[in-house]
Amino acid sequence: MDAMHIQHSRPTIDKDDIYSAIKVLSAGKLATGDEVQMFLKDVCRYIKLDNCGGVVTNSGTNALYFALRSLGIGTVYGIHPEPGMCKDEVIIPSYVCRSVLSAVEHTGAAPVLADIGFYGYNIDPDNCRIRMTKNTKAIIVPHMFGTPVRIDRFIELGRESGVPVIEDCAQSIGASHDGKKMGSFGDLSIFSFYATKCMTSGGHGGMVISNSADIIESLNSLTQYDKTQKHSESYNYSLTDLQAVIGRQQLKKLDSFIDRRQEIAAIYDEVFNDLGQEIPSGGGIYFRYVIEVECPDHYIREMRNQGIVCERPVFKPLHQYLYNGSDNYPNTERAMEHAISIPIYPSISDAEIEYVCKAIRTVWGK
Ligand SMILES: *Cc1c(COP(=O)(O)O)cnc(C)c1O
Repeated sequence: MDAMHIQHSRPTIDKDDIYSAIKVLSAGKLATGDEVQMFLKDVCRYIKLDNCGGVVTNSGTNALYFALRSLGIGTVYGIHPEPGMCKDEVIIPSYVCRSVLSAVEHTGAAPVLADIGFYGYNIDPDNCRIRMTKNTKAIIVPHMFGTPVRIDRFIELGRESGVPVIEDCAQSIGASHDGKKMGSFGDLSIFSFYATKCMTSGGHGGMVISNSADIIESLNSLTQYDKTQKHSESYNYSLTDLQAVIGRQQLKKLDSFIDRRQEIAAIYDEVFNDLGQEIPSGGGIYFRYVIEVECPDHYIREMRNQGIVCERPVFKPLHQYLYNGSDNYPNTERAMEHAISIPIYPSISDAEIEYVCKAIRTVWGK
């Protein structure tokens, strides 16, 4: 077989996406209008939240920021004249991309990092509990790599403590637990439609939804940046109709995207099983196909030599940015030392999958 180049991730764009964008462009309605509102409604319907509302944003990071500000967390515009004035704390996992940290920091609240569980890559409810104080104002719970967290434990924790739970579904739109979609459990939920997430709104995009009328009102007020009677905190973090229409098209195909991801995962599972390599736990939508090896750099290098881009699924754990190793995150360290992510996305062709499998057999078989 000829050498191929297989990217780590890639969006899946078809002619429906392209024609829908052309239609919006031709109509000349380019700012934030009906398409954006319908995109919100479509996602609410998909997640199946009865009194769902929220706002569509230009990124998942800003959706998280809005989620926090709608709860009154932090200080206005993140400005706190005296350091230490804002006592609010928000719990996030250490093993997650830096954008989650940025969203918390923009509010002026202090990020508090929790470790992930002994198995898998999701934030651990027990570790989370230990790190809660009277200043804890929210817990951000990402479903990493498309695998749902044990959400009941967090809902229970939130109920006991009165601390709101924000579900971060940036990597897991379409995943479910007990027949209910992720994003329908938390007090608020956020999504990302960045180019390489499970579905995209044309490159960048995000959304924050809730079932609470108060939170929805609070979210809406953050977006009213023009023509308001009152002077209040507001942001232009909007998505455009041009982007939203692509998001709407992609949402229609999301279930088929997920089917394809699960199909590819099953093929990889079989190959790795044959090689005696432990496979991912399953049960999710396989935003990433992550396995653990003794020396990820070696496997990444060998796979790249075959033209296949594998990655460490998290670039750098947050405790290494914040605490310089002064606090203890053994499970995050374990994931950092061993996890590697193999290309998986709906637009990989059968021939490419076959090529990846062959390369895996060669590299792992050595
Ligand atoms: C991608 C991602 C975000 C941020 O979304 P952007 O649209 O890239 O700003 C937040 N949380 C998680 C878990 C993500 O994977």
